[in-house]
Amino acid sequence: MSLLEVKNLKTTFAIGVGTVQAVRGISFHVDEGEFVGIVGESGSGKSVTMLSVMDLLPNYAKVEADSMTFAGKELREMNARELRALHGKEIGMIFQDPMTSLNPLFTVEQQLSEPLRIHLGMKRDAARAKALELLRQVEIPDPEQRLKQYPHEFSGGMRQRVMIAMAIACSPKMVIADEPTTALDVTIQAQILDLLENLKKNTNAAIVMITHDLGVIASMCSRIIVMYGGMICEEGSSRDIFYRAQHPYTWGLLNSIPKIHHDRHEKLVPIHGTPPDMLKPPAGCPFAPRCRYCMPVCRMMTPPETGLDHGHRVFCHLMHAKAPKVERGVDR
Ligand code: SF4
Repeated sequence: MSLLEVKNLKTTFAIGVGTVQAVRGISFHVDEGEFVGIVGESGSGKSVTMLSVMDLLPNYAKVEADSMTFAGKELREMNARELRALHGKEIGMIFQDPMTSLNPLFTVEQQLSEPLRIHLGMKRDAARAKALELLRQVEIPDPEQRLKQYPHEFSGGMRQRVMIAMAIACSPKMVIADEPTTALDVTIQAQILDLLENLKKNTNAAIVMITHDLGVIASMCSRIIVMYGGMICEEGSSRDIFYRAQHPYTWGLLNSIPKIHHDRHEKLVPIHGTPPDMLKPPAGCPFAPRCRYCMPVCRMMTPPETGLDHGHRVFCHLMHAKAPKVERGVDR
């Protein structure tokens, strides 16, 4: 059964110069215990999608959807108290920069205990014991000592571990990790990714990982959603995306990540051009201005969904093109 089901989500931001169409009618689901990756470059709408689901956008954002359900409950019908209970208890969030989420004025113990006391009604001693257990779970050395410290006494990687501990404190059904490793150096990145993978095995929470780096989630996700210009362009299992990708943008992403068996002098292939201006997104396919397979229909009509095997879906006119077969795909 789907834990999260989103149908026809549209999110816009009214700003002085016009309306930014950040998310343009997307539908997707996350199953219980699943590890889903949402991939795309900056401005593709991936973070806004999950912030829309969480109702965490500023009040100049307008969120519309046919439906958005979590564990069978319609999110848009929840009142402020129900949404507060949902955040932290049922859905945990890990953000890119832990310093913006951790309060510099409170110790780690105070910050870890707060959700336990609010959502689970724990008394002070029980909350402290649980906070200690959480720090051990996220592999923070010397946890007794660390509990008494403030966020500025932690390194970036350690702060991110504290954020993960906070996100899983109340055993949520789903954890959303928004670019959790972007601000970290490569070795620490690998440790945090290992930690998330272990959490997935040990907690059975669904994890939604938002990233601009397809390489980061290559081995972790069971399913990957590729977004571009506020729309989904392809969705499938990791195998579908890495070995049977059908969308030119996915090919571009795959061509731009280093491959272990390639000559180290070989250049990576960038995706030429720039992302669309979401104040005036192009008509038809948002990738058309950068796509080397673009056809006249691509500039006029939004590509329809084409369903392939095992939930693999692609939004590209090439899937229906009668033109002679073009040589296409990933440059491997
Ligand atoms: Fe390229 Fe057309 Fe497919 Fe868009 S719909 S990715 S422009 S071929």
